[in-house]
Amino acid sequence: MTTPLPPSLLPRVNAAACRGCARCLGTYVCPTDAIKKAGRGAPPEIDAELCEGCLACVGACPVGGIQPPVMPPDAPV
Ligand code: SF4
Ligand code: SF4
Repeated sequence: MTTPLPPSLLPRVNAAACRGCARCLGTYVCPTDAIKKAGRGAPPEIDAELCEGCLACVGACPVGGIQPPVMPPDAPV
C-alpha cells in the first residue's frame, strides 16, 4: 500500500464546471480507479487514498471540471 498524496498534490474537482458527462470515469482514464460519482449527473469525487497524481483525469475532462493541483511555492519542480 502506498502513502496517500498530500491534498496540495491532488487534482481538484470544479463542481461548477462539471456537466456530468462521466468521461473522467473508468480505468481507461484513471489507472487506479480513484474517480467515482455519487450519482448520475453528479460531479466526480477523487479518492485521495487511491490517487497517484498522474493528472490523466485533468486532460480527460472537456470543460475543466477537474483542475490540476495548486502547488505550494516551495514544491520541487
Ligand atoms: S469532471 Fe468533466 S469529464 Fe468528469 S463528469 Fe464532469 S464534465 Fe464530465
Ligand atoms: S490524478 Fe491520475 S490517479 Fe489521480 S484521480 Fe486523476 S487519473 Fe486518477
